[in-house]
Amino acid sequence: MQEADHPSRRDFIAAGLAGASAGLVPGVQSTAPGQGESERTIMKVRFDELLPHEFRKRLAQRPIAYLPLGTLEWHGEHLPLGSDAIQSEGLMVECARQLGGIVMPPIHLGPDRAKPADDGKMLVGMDYAESTTPPRQLDGSCYWVPAGFHLLMVDAILAQLKRAGFRAVFADGHGPSRWSWVENLSERQVRFGLKLFGVTKRISSQWRSQVDHAARNETSLMMHLRPNLVDLSQLPPSRSTWPQGVGGEDPRDATAAYGKECLEKSVELVRQMFAEAGLL
Ligand SMILES: [Zn+2]
Repeated sequence: MQEADHPSRRDFIAAGLAGASAGLVPGVQSTAPGQGESERTIMKVRFDELLPHEFRKRLAQRPIAYLPLGTLEWHGEHLPLGSDAIQSEGLMVECARQLGGIVMPPIHLGPDRAKPADDGKMLVGMDYAESTTPPRQLDGSCYWVPAGFHLLMVDAILAQLKRAGFRAVFADGHGPSRWSWVENLSERQVRFGLKLFGVTKRISSQWRSQVDHAARNETSLMMHLRPNLVDLSQLPPSRSTWPQGVGGEDPRDATAAYGKECLEKSVELVRQMFAEAGLL
């Protein structure tokens, strides 16, 4: 993927922050389970956990698949490396519980900008963001694949989803994967005969999930979804020191309550998209 043809991370973050300042639609009641909740009381919506009779039932009720787009990428010292998939999958599990459908296992490989450094080492994504000084390979990033490989992988998944009986797919997550998905949406819709949904320009200003990088939005979502995996004490205590490889509003202002609000607003937008398409 050529960086010049795609929004930069700065545009991505700016769009998210602009959206974050807009008003919130009244929330949808969240049914996200707590960590200690008994498995028996949780509605099973993950493809890999379903028995065949459960799969048949959920597919017949709502033939929608959710495809979480993730990474294994540096998300500051305070968030886990798999934060992208944890958030996209968390959002989609909530969507599936409220709207129906089945959540696919996340894809942890994704495209991103890349360029060789002076020493010949490859820099990827946040390695050369403005907030990474000096530019360098950030610890734990392990996800990059060429854009063409990612396109083929998603094509193969769509062919399988069609064959399995799904009629619609919503995919979202890691920024560059999100942009690749949205860019190819209409062509794939025709090629695979599936109704496809993503965070397109039409809704991106209102979207609240994964709209920065390891900053207030992603940190808040993680505090809501998996509080035990977040450690804010790893961030520099002084506000005058900006955390490395973090882009957006200050993650030290993150709260679980704000994360819940962001997730609920995004679920509501998915609900509206499905309703407009006659799927609900
Ligand atoms: Zn992220």
